[in-house]
Amino acid sequence: MTIKRLFNLAIGSLLFCSLAIFGPGQKRVDGVTADSVLAELKAGNAHHIAHRYQHPHETATRQRELVSVQHPHAEVLSCADSRVPPELIFDQGLGDLFIVRVAGNVVSDIELGSLEYGAEHLHVALLVVMGHQHCGAVTAAIEGGEAAGHIGALIDLLRPAVEKTRGLPGDPVENAVKVNVEMVVKQLRTSTPVLAELVSHGKLKVVGAVYSLETGRVTWLPDTP
Ligand SMILES: [Zn+2]
Repeated sequence: MTIKRLFNLAIGSLLFCSLAIFGPGQKRVDGVTADSVLAELKAGNAHHIAHRYQHPHETATRQRELVSVQHPHAEVLSCADSRVPPELIFDQGLGDLFIVRVAGNVVSDIELGSLEYGAEHLHVALLVVMGHQHCGAVTAAIEGGEAAGHIGALIDLLRPAVEKTRGLPGDPVENAVKVNVEMVVKQLRTSTPVLAELVSHGKLKVVGAVYSLETGRVTWLPDTP
């Protein structure tokens, strides 16, 4: 066996071990913090409000770079509603956001597992829970009645926010959307064993937001700096 062959074998083994230990896409990006990501999302939302998009990270080069690795910088839990696409709302591109979309932006174990993966294995620093104006799922939960098919399971998860806001002044859907976001934020921050641990060590920040269909503006909930 030649020296060159031995060298190639050694390099190959090293690469294999690195992948086995860290897996693709599990490298932390230096200098990225929850606050820097939040500032970037706010800037992207300003582009959306003004309809002056920068369309970052949409090139063929970017696509090729992401074939075997990903470093998303934020997780977003948002509604499945077709009018609420996070990449457009925050003017982000390929590989930027790790997104879980489900009607009513609720959390069951399935959504939680995805969010845990993003936070723990992809080292995402910021998790945004985003509700929206005129949410059909929340409206259905408020109206009550018989839900067809599997929709009832979804409505059950929204019911606590509906009950908590029943009888309050103002628009009942807007109230329940906001409180649902607040409750899901709290649920995620205190979710053991993964997310609560990351939050307590300052490795993950969970923030709440509500999107306006009319203006395109994302309003960040009060405890968000
Ligand atoms: Zn919705």
